[in-house]
Amino acid sequence: MNTPFELPDYLPLSYLNQLRYCPRRFWLMYCQSEMEINAPVLEGQFRHQRAHQPGVTWDEQGRQVRSVQVWSDRLRLNGVADFIEERDGRLIPLEHKRGRMGQWLNDQVQLCAQALCLEERLGIPVLEGELFYWGNRRRERVRFDDSLRAETEATVHQAFDLLAAVRRPQPIDHPAKCRDCSLEPICLPRETLLLLREESLDR
Ligand code: SF4
Repeated sequence: MNTPFELPDYLPLSYLNQLRYCPRRFWLMYCQSEMEINAPVLEGQFRHQRAHQPGVTWDEQGRQVRSVQVWSDRLRLNGVADFIEERDGRLIPLEHKRGRMGQWLNDQVQLCAQALCLEERLGIPVLEGELFYWGNRRRERVRFDDSLRAETEATVHQAFDLLAAVRRPQPIDHPAKCRDCSLEPICLPRETLLLLREESLDR
């Protein structure tokens, strides 16, 4: 069943992360408000508690602002950046993530969307950001090059196209992603794909 849906004026940019990972996950979370609180999700929420408390800290490298509202009228995006660091006059968005950096671009796209919002609001270039992963406590640098910017804008357009189509995407055939997806017990990707294949054979 697909959910009748009114197109939003602005899309919360964290959903770009879900969409880049899997269009069906995006749909289940955004349109159907599905959420499965398993141990990794709970850990992520716990780790994010400090990032969600607005405030400012200073160190020898500069200023760090927590929980910053960002938005883009051009892309119809809004959201909250965990941290914005100011170093030598440069702004560097920083997101905290559980686990380790994956093979997919979902975290990078979310971070780049924050940079695009900051550039539009402030009129200055934001050329790189960082992702901090609690799994190995490493900061990974992310350059906002033309390719990532294009991927990010394409993901925004895909999101609005999907919402306009009002059609829940089918599961992806990607066991590795589904294994790590908290919505797997709700989505039932193997069972759904099996049924879809049987239906197509019956036609
Ligand atoms: S279980 Fe797989 S198909 Fe279903 S939402 Fe998650 S990643 Fe997508």
